[in-house]
Amino acid sequence: MTENRNTNEYMELRELFRSGGNLSSFRTAVDGAVGLSAYFTELHEKGECIQGFHPSGVGIMKNTGEIRIDPKLIKTREEGSLPIRYAPPEINLGVAKPGEGSDRYILAVLIFQLLTGGDHPLHGSRYMGPVMTKRMKEMCYGLDPEFIFSDSTGRNLPDPKIHVKAIAIWNILPGEIRDLFARAFSREAVLNPEKRPDEKEWNRSLVAFQNHMIPCQCGNILKDGAGESFTCTACGKGHQITHRIKINGDAIPVVRGNRIYRSQVRHESLPAADEARPEAIIVVSGSDHNKMGLRNVSEDTWKVLTTKGITKDVGKGEVVPIKSGIKIRCGDTDIEIAATDQQ
Ligand SMILES: [Zn+2]
Repeated sequence: MTENRNTNEYMELRELFRSGGNLSSFRTAVDGAVGLSAYFTELHEKGECIQGFHPSGVGIMKNTGEIRIDPKLIKTREEGSLPIRYAPPEINLGVAKPGEGSDRYILAVLIFQLLTGGDHPLHGSRYMGPVMTKRMKEMCYGLDPEFIFSDSTGRNLPDPKIHVKAIAIWNILPGEIRDLFARAFSREAVLNPEKRPDEKEWNRSLVAFQNHMIPCQCGNILKDGAGESFTCTACGKGHQITHRIKINGDAIPVVRGNRIYRSQVRHESLPAADEARPEAIIVVSGSDHNKMGLRNVSEDTWKVLTTKGITKDVGKGEVVPIKSGIKIRCGDTDIEIAATDQQ
């Protein structure tokens, strides 16, 4: 991690959240969230969990969303040293100890903060004021936790003047991701931490979100589905999906910026940092803004079968044009580009 501390691209999450959480794009924040879920998956597969945590121990590359975690800060603290904002209510109440249940909570808080620019999911309008007293903290993070976006009492909803970014982001999140947050911060999960979504559920949903994003110029993100025509529910603009990328039974819309991750094309077990890295990104190809391509952003060379039946090598940084019938061997997976009207 030291090699990146000296560049302006690396930022500790604590610093990022304090400054309003601006990364190079919303997609970068989603990449960061994918990276966090991959990290927790690797940690739990090794039989480890977080015994102490502080957001100064986690950093992100501002341009790529790559997550860097300082193992010393996270793993050598004494049990029970989770700060109140990152400890789940059951630990703040003293009825549970750190384990996979608290890791799931920490993961959900970090993902929420990454996506919304630093807001805490339990810190809503009920606690807005000049000072958060000790009693208020006890209520917010322990005795009476209420997720700001599913608070049925109406007491702790987001403040429209303060949670501007969080509200805007919440409105564009797919239902699946909203449901994960609601489960992670539900009262039921305080009593049964195993009811919180685990890192693999987060990973699957975030990867699908990134794969299928259809952003509109107005800031809305359209829900993908069958077909090729989509109308923005916010501004009415139409969006045409001319091609899709077929991979593992899925059909990813060809939309500038959509990614395919290494974990989707390599099925051997990869280190978390590699699992979360994009293998390919859909880009505008050349000077014609209507032409799209699939850029190889991995370290490896793809074998590409053109529509004329010629095999070509496509290395790092090179772009395969989006053309129906092109097949790409990438990692241990075959990808095929298909026009939507031929599906
Ligand atoms: Zn729109």
